[in-house]
Amino acid sequence: MRWYEPHEEEVKFLCCCFCEEALGLLFLSPSAPQHTDPDYSAAYVVLETDGGLRGFGLTFTLGKGTEIVVCAVQAMTGLVVGKSLEEIVRDFRGFYRLLTSDGQMRWLGPEKGVIHLATAALLNAVWDLWARMEGKPLWKLLVDMSPERLVSCIDFRYITDVLTEEEALELLVKAQEGKRQREEEMLREGYPAYTTSCAWLGYSDQQLKQLCTDALKGGWTKFKVKVGADLDDDVRRCRLIRQMIGPDNTLMIDANQRWDVSEAISWVSNLAEVKPLWIEEPTSPDDILGHAAISKALAPLGIGVATGEQCHNRVMFKQFLQAGALQFVQIDSCRLGSVNENLAVLLMAHKFRVPVCPHAGGVGLCELVQHLILFDYICVSASLSNRMCEYVDHLHEHFVCPVVIHNARYMPPKIPGYSCEMLESSVKKHQYPDGDAWKLYPKK
Ligand SMILES: [Mg+2]
Repeated sequence: MRWYEPHEEEVKFLCCCFCEEALGLLFLSPSAPQHTDPDYSAAYVVLETDGGLRGFGLTFTLGKGTEIVVCAVQAMTGLVVGKSLEEIVRDFRGFYRLLTSDGQMRWLGPEKGVIHLATAALLNAVWDLWARMEGKPLWKLLVDMSPERLVSCIDFRYITDVLTEEEALELLVKAQEGKRQREEEMLREGYPAYTTSCAWLGYSDQQLKQLCTDALKGGWTKFKVKVGADLDDDVRRCRLIRQMIGPDNTLMIDANQRWDVSEAISWVSNLAEVKPLWIEEPTSPDDILGHAAISKALAPLGIGVATGEQCHNRVMFKQFLQAGALQFVQIDSCRLGSVNENLAVLLMAHKFRVPVCPHAGGVGLCELVQHLILFDYICVSASLSNRMCEYVDHLHEHFVCPVVIHNARYMPPKIPGYSCEMLESSVKKHQYPDGDAWKLYPKK
């Protein structure tokens, strides 16, 4: 790791950050069961140093939600403007806590909701800036950090009953063995992915068949189907997909929080014949004991529960793991407090031997989480068993360094940063409220 002490004064000057802008950007997306009017939009944060280096971060919501997130990001600018990058990363745990414990804004969370989404966007930009400063893609920055340095970025507050700093360090030190080989393997072969692009709700059977055929030709072996609107329709669609992909490929189902607990159990039991690996977000994302009940009921059918895309923070993940309420952890760098908090969740999941399969899609989330899951394999879990990263073929064209998928695998990015810088032309077109994209659709 390169540090800046020899030229501290100079670099302090060079790395002085200010939040240049937090923009609301609008995109259109396929529909999910609970979000039938999905105007994806993103709060896009640009940090600029007075040396000219820039860091880019974002979080995304739907439509008007982003206006609120942008306000929250703007309210946080005072916590970052004028700081040097070196000062931030030297005590990254302290900086994380500064953002999440502000006397006035903590009331809005703590560490959840709009204020935590804003924290994610801001911290994603800081990590991007740091990786660019080091000239490395984010995953490589993490892989090259010492275990001591990594744990110094994590806020262990509220999770020490499950994971202490000492234990985290021990896990990371243990996983150093074979690290170089795993890094080479990832560079050569990439990280396994699954696709959600074939079976959104509302697609005709003809469309499903065509998308499945194309995906199979492209080497995809793992498929996720959106369910929860109509049981008969789900049975028909899931049978169709299972028939298309054959018995050996993997099928998952995702209800996007559609059901109550008992309804989830009976609905998913009716779909057991298609052998889904998991049911994702069967009920309210806050209902830890409900997820535990669903997990227990579905275990004899060989169906696991996956959740996490709307799990607020590491404390929630801790309880999900303690309660045996999930069998697949779905991290998200736009929901949790960026890399810092995701590191805590990766380590807790590893301790509980629960595989991590990141949530991706949305706006730029594939670009972000690929870095985290590469790090997880190389430096934490050292396993690919039942592990895969979601992929949605959507909105990548807006990014300067879009993900590279080869043979249904994420190929490790080689360009410095956290991969969520957008093309200037896209930012201009989609910026709220004057971009051309906003003129095409009526405001609500
Ligand atoms: Mg989902």
